[in-house]
Amino acid sequence: MKPALLKKQISAGGVVFKRDSDGIKVVLVSVKDGSVWTLPKGLLEKGEEPEVAALREVQEETGLRGRIVDSLDTVSYWYFLKDENTKYHKTVYYYLIEYMGGSTDNHDREVDEASWFPLDDALKMVKYKGDREILERARERLLRINEK
Ligand code: ATP
Repeated sequence: MKPALLKKQISAGGVVFKRDSDGIKVVLVSVKDGSVWTLPKGLLEKGEEPEVAALREVQEETGLRGRIVDSLDTVSYWYFLKDENTKYHKTVYYYLIEYMGGSTDNHDREVDEASWFPLDDALKMVKYKGDREILERARERLLRINEK
C-alpha cells in the first residue's frame, strides 16, 4: 500500500438568519441521505474570495440569497478518501449572512433538504462540533446586534 497523499481544500459557507415573531431562525441542510444536518458550504473556485464563495454556495445549496453582515470563524478538519488514497485537510470560512430572498424549495441536489429552524433547535441538530461552535458564535453576535 502506497502512503496516502495529502491535499488541502478550502471551502466557505455560512449561517443564514432571519428574525420573525418567535425569534431567530437559521438554515441547515441535510446530507448523507438525510442523516446529517449541517451548515451550507462548498469549495472555493479558482481565484474566488471566501466571501463570494460563501454567498454563491449558500444560494446554490439552499436557494436563498443573502448579504454578509459579519465573519464568524474558520473550522478545520481532516478526512480520508479511500478511493483516492488521499488525506484531505479542509478549512472552512463561515460568515453570518442576513436572509434577503429566495426559497429553500429551490435547494440543489447537492443536499437532501434545506430548511429553517429556530436557532436553539439548530444547535441541537448539528452533528459536527465545528458547526455547533459556529452557530454559538452566530448566536452571540445576533444577541449583541439585538441589544444595539
Ligand atoms: P464541500 O461542501 O466543502 O464541497 P464535500 O461535501 O465534498 O465538501 P465535506 O462536507 O467536507 O465534503 O465532507 C467530507 C468528509 O468530512 C465527510 O466524511 C464528512 O462527514 C466529514 N465532515 C464534514 N464536515 C465536517 C466537520 N465540520 N467536522 C468534521 N468532519 C466533517
